Amino acid sequence: MKLTNRSIVAANKELNWVEKLYLPAIVKGMMITFSHIFKKKATVKYPEQIRPIAPVYRGVHVLKRDEQGRENCTACGLCAVACPAEAITMDAAERQKGEENLYREEKYAARYEINMLRCIFCGLCEEACPKDAIYLTDRILPSNYARDTFIYGKDILVEGITPEGRVDISKRKKDYHMNT
Ligand code: SF4
Ligand code: SF4
Repeated sequence: MKLTNRSIVAANKELNWVEKLYLPAIVKGMMITFSHIFKKKATVKYPEQIRPIAPVYRGVHVLKRDEQGRENCTACGLCAVACPAEAITMDAAERQKGEENLYREEKYAARYEINMLRCIFCGLCEEACPKDAIYLTDRILPSNYARDTFIYGKDILVEGITPEGRVDISKRKKDYHMNT
């Protein structure tokens, strides 16, 4: 069945002696190549050069701490339920006496993992979280050769406790007009 009129009948004709030299075709090809030398390049030298990232970009997640450095996540599991890719796994634990400076709520995630190979960066976990605990950031997921390196645990996801280790998500919150 003929679907379009764009098909071309390929002729199997004999090449003449000029065509057999292939020179006209080579020159034509080189002219196309040279015409691109002075055009603006579409590529950048990543990772030395990084393109500006849109505020709506959804990259690697961060698990936030509060102003006192305590983990916000209370292991309620809403993010995992909302995740269409079933990429989030966690184990909840009860905060013990003396751990009030580590965890904001009485329950916390002893283990929190995101399988980045499953994640489709949809942001639904961020929207589902009632505790201001998980955000997607503008950080690009680095490539790797081993599959198990894409299981991101708390060691990677939880932001640092020092001011330098904090991940600023204020712009993202503002751009999304999020109610937090
Ligand atoms: S961004 Fe989407 S796919 Fe990725 S962990 Fe969150 S909810 Fe799941
Ligand atoms: S990140 Fe938010 S939604 Fe997910 S378990 Fe922690 S508090 Fe609940």
